[in-house]
Amino acid sequence: METSRLIALDKEFIWHPCTQQKDLETLPPIPITHGEGVYLFDTDGKSYIDGVSSWWVNLLGHGNKRLNKALSDQANKIAHHIFAGMTHEPAVTLAQRLCQLAPGNMSKVFFTDNGSSAVEAAMKMSFQYWQQSGYPDKTRFVSLTDAYHGETLGALSVSGCELYRNIYKPILLDGYQSQGPNCYRCLYGQHRESCGQDCFAELEKVVTENSGQIAAVIVEPLVQGAAGMRIYPPGYLKKLRQLCDSNNVHYIADEIAVGFGRTGRMFANEHADVAPDLLCLSKGITGGYMPLAVVLTHDEIYQAFYDDYDSLKAFLHSHSYSGNPLACALAVEVLNIFDDEQILESIQPKIKLLKDAKSTFEQHPHIGEMRQCGMIAALEMVQEKGDKTPYPWQQRRGFEVYKHALSLGALLRPLGNVVYFMPPLTIEPQQLEQLLDIAMASINRVTCE
Ligand SMILES: *Cc1c(COP(=O)(O)O)cnc(C)c1O
Repeated sequence: METSRLIALDKEFIWHPCTQQKDLETLPPIPITHGEGVYLFDTDGKSYIDGVSSWWVNLLGHGNKRLNKALSDQANKIAHHIFAGMTHEPAVTLAQRLCQLAPGNMSKVFFTDNGSSAVEAAMKMSFQYWQQSGYPDKTRFVSLTDAYHGETLGALSVSGCELYRNIYKPILLDGYQSQGPNCYRCLYGQHRESCGQDCFAELEKVVTENSGQIAAVIVEPLVQGAAGMRIYPPGYLKKLRQLCDSNNVHYIADEIAVGFGRTGRMFANEHADVAPDLLCLSKGITGGYMPLAVVLTHDEIYQAFYDDYDSLKAFLHSHSYSGNPLACALAVEVLNIFDDEQILESIQPKIKLLKDAKSTFEQHPHIGEMRQCGMIAALEMVQEKGDKTPYPWQQRRGFEVYKHALSLGALLRPLGNVVYFMPPLTIEPQQLEQLLDIAMASINRVTCE
């Protein structure tokens, strides 16, 4: 198909995610033909370094030979079958290995097919657990300001990004929202590296005062992604685990974005040496190839559902594509690659490269902070460095950086004024350097009028 026709048909028939369609008049979508490693290629043959892992999903590069083979091998057996009353080897292998890898004593894996649905399943499990354990009043969830847990109504109810949520408020669940950690603009004048998590007091107050009504606290461990890659210290999670224990409240960890090595460890909770009661995983789980999500939990929660059928205690929740074999086969191969190619060891030099870039970026007159957690790093652009004045959102500086970076051959889709890096873990060091250079050039262009 001619590129111009492709664009015209896109315009005529497609409604893109998270997009003001009118923007496409000035910046039409880029038609992608294929991908290889960290590169995306368009119909003109131009390449783009995928600096954001195509919305945080691609883990081991595009067109990964081993993943391609795992997918086609499985396709030649069966693509999908019903997952109630039937099972298959990729799902069983995946579930066993995830339980072994995950922090704590995870013993059961529930399959859904996208991140939001995993969050919803975890919320329903927590709620139903309390219903069936003699705590009918524990019906509410606690979440943090600027949290992101997905955009279906239940997940949106525990999200705090006002941009995505405001208009839907009348149809969302009632819950408690507590001020989350905001280390760059710490309300307590502390520093991320040395603080004692004074901000935790907010959450502590909400939970202790309302524990009789609270089913669970849900957080994004270590990195609040959509909030602008807000990074906070592991001590916060340690305190959260203790708080949940002492108040009879579940801890739901949403590691949909940060799981599978992004933070430098397999799972973010490992940095704090704690385990959640319910762990949500998705995105990188299939290497970014197929939609798949899981909720892991331990035996105590599981047992509250296990009884004779007529007790009506079962978890009657399902998705058509639960346990999809293609996705499970990919996820198993992702774990094989982690082992065979020592992915967690291989990223350490690249983590250091990002760390070493901090001082250079922070000399920039309009970069307030470079923050980093493992293979995730973010540059926050500010109008005034001294008092951290943000650029007014209407100026869309991040969007301008995005456009300029595209022209230079990188996909750096920002979050407001925050330009971030979350490349595939397999990026080569010199490709990562190139990505940093493109970010610097684009930020220069957009901030130094
Ligand atoms: C992406 C994301 C979700 C939602 O996942 P979808 O597959 O987009 O529904 C939930 N939580 C976090 C932390 C995410 O990054």
